[in-house]
Amino acid sequence: MKVTDTKDNRIPPTQSSKNFFEDRKETFFSHNKNDGSHFFTYNTAQKRTNDKQFLTNQGLTANGNPVSGVNKTSNNSLVQAKKKPLSGFSKPREIFLPNDTKTEKKVYEAIKQSPIIGPFIKDKIKAGVKIQGSVKYHYKRDSFEESYSDIGNRDDDIKSIGGFYDRKNKKIHLPPSPRIESLVHESIHKFSHNFLGFTTFIHEGLTQLFTNTVLVENGLSKGSTYKKELKVAEAIRDKVGGLKNLSSLFFAGGPKKLRDALFKNPKSDFGGFIQLARKKDTKKLIEYLKNH
Ligand SMILES: [Zn+2]
Repeated sequence: MKVTDTKDNRIPPTQSSKNFFEDRKETFFSHNKNDGSHFFTYNTAQKRTNDKQFLTNQGLTANGNPVSGVNKTSNNSLVQAKKKPLSGFSKPREIFLPNDTKTEKKVYEAIKQSPIIGPFIKDKIKAGVKIQGSVKYHYKRDSFEESYSDIGNRDDDIKSIGGFYDRKNKKIHLPPSPRIESLVHESIHKFSHNFLGFTTFIHEGLTQLFTNTVLVENGLSKGSTYKKELKVAEAIRDKVGGLKNLSSLFFAGGPKKLRDALFKNPKSDFGGFIQLARKKDTKKLIEYLKNH
């Protein structure tokens, strides 16, 4: 999507950029594609059905609350599920004001309180991992794109990304007119393991699956990005026995444990899977997961 100027671009930068890619060589990163094509053409009735199906798939009722039997472990689990820190937002692509740490805190709370994700990031929360204060807002698209290239990206469409995470410096980067979906997506990167060994295609699909989880839990619709990647992520979710199992692997277990959970002969099967993932062949990847 070509990003046009908005009045947000005129807000002067106030944030220091002192830890701005000091050492760019080995920086890991990921990104969030932000082409708006689906958002404006998406059929509303179809969307509702999809959202309902999505909730059912992850053991939630249409209100976003857990179905009975899920999350009954503590007295206040129902209250937690009912909390919706992102309730002030009406759609995933809503733009928020840069340098608004209140929004960053809301995203942090939404992830921390998620019945699906929360239980598996307790160590990180305890260790002080936060979203508030870890976002670098760019006030010019040029500056954002320059930073993105500087950490070594080559083959992605630089014009369409809506954010990226600099894993080495633990910093989220957002372009002018940042969107709430992008902040959630990049925050998921911050709390999860690095799955780039699974290829960017799989890494982004898994990240978007949990981005959508948080959005839907908070009464928003699913995001509009990474549709192809998401299909494979859903097949991975089903193969490991559901979203909670996948969550434990994605946020706590790590890539090797996911590999071992996915394949009958992890070492030999993984190579074939990665070859297909590099080709971004959704159909063959789903087929491969069924047969290995
Ligand atoms: Zn991403």
